Amino acid sequence: MATAPREARAQETSPQTTLRPIRMRPGARYTCFGDGLCCTDIHGLGPITRKELVEIRRLDPRGAGWDDGFEDHMLQPAADGGCHFLLPNQLCDVHARFGPEAKPEGCRRFPLGLTATPEGGRVTTFHRCTCRTLGERPELEEEAVLPALLDRRGRPKADRHVKKVRLRRKGKKVGFAAWRAIEAPLLDALQAGAAPAPLLGAEPFPRLAKAHWGAFAEDLLDERDATAFGVASAFFAEAMRLCLYPEERERWPWRPWAPAYDRAEARSPAPRKVDAMLADWVADEVWALSWADVVSFDVKRAELATRLALARRIIAGLVDLGTRADRAAAEAIMVVELIGESEHWTDLLPRMRPPQESSPAKAAKKKAAKKASRKKKRRRPDERRAASAA
Ligand code: SF4
Repeated sequence: MATAPREARAQETSPQTTLRPIRMRPGARYTCFGDGLCCTDIHGLGPITRKELVEIRRLDPRGAGWDDGFEDHMLQPAADGGCHFLLPNQLCDVHARFGPEAKPEGCRRFPLGLTATPEGGRVTTFHRCTCRTLGERPELEEEAVLPALLDRRGRPKADRHVKKVRLRRKGKKVGFAAWRAIEAPLLDALQAGAAPAPLLGAEPFPRLAKAHWGAFAEDLLDERDATAFGVASAFFAEAMRLCLYPEERERWPWRPWAPAYDRAEARSPAPRKVDAMLADWVADEVWALSWADVVSFDVKRAELATRLALARRIIAGLVDLGTRADRAAAEAIMVVELIGESEHWTDLLPRMRPPQESSPAKAAKKKAAKKASRKKKRRRPDERRAASAA
């Protein structure tokens, strides 16, 4: 692999973070099978730059435009929910006619991303993609993923820069080496495929400041629309309702994304283990560090525990409907990742209040105070009188 010139390398970084070396998370697997899920209104198709807008509209004026909901220029879905350039064989017409470089940057990157850290660039992956979750996929390799992560000038482009991590909501940020010492054993255990919830060490549905889980689920249902994303919101809300009120009747909506998962299931005869799929997703959520500038790690663990509980509820519902367990897990992970990335969830994150863990110094002080108070109570009344007179 050619090395970038010195000026280019300087521009790829911000102080104390770097994109070199490019690092893969061990165990992360992906290759594009063209199942056709990502090029639909399961999520926003964009945003795109002004230059990309002009190029796309030159090919098809209906293909892109201003989107009031996203307040940005986006590719526009056609009546069936697929991008205007999505061909009947699930391939991209822009790619087929002009090559991958002609596609908007967001299309070339998805489902990959890049986080700059003091130890190099971390390649990240979204799991709302059948090609990331189902079937025989090779481990990520730099040669295979790097072309998708380059900007128009051929340089790796970071989605974010992370230098430090806040471990507790009310604590200070710690340096990257301290964070790695905490993260490494967690990632190792997740990579081994263990059930992820106990590894997080956090309870789902933490207390919310000035908000309520039931009201959140109702608001999510009220705001759903006819897009595939809107249906995923309804799935998420229904799973939350069933977690909060388990005695209620299950009312899962229809699944507009089913054809893409039909194709993925057909090319994946050997089922994957559900625990390993969930652990793989949680590991990438932690590894991406997209949360590090927004919330502390204790809040991240609690929100992940909550979305894991919702994913388990969706999996149980879909398996009851006759869906193969690993496919049900893939669909559930897609739903909880989609809503986790949406404003609905990111607005709720700062309101989450997991129980605060004491620092060792604070815990020792608290223990000493408790001991002193017990000692005081054990004194005889005449000793107490003498102590207060003194
Ligand atoms: S332009 Fe191509 S890759 Fe991008 S969303 Fe449309 S069909 Fe998919």
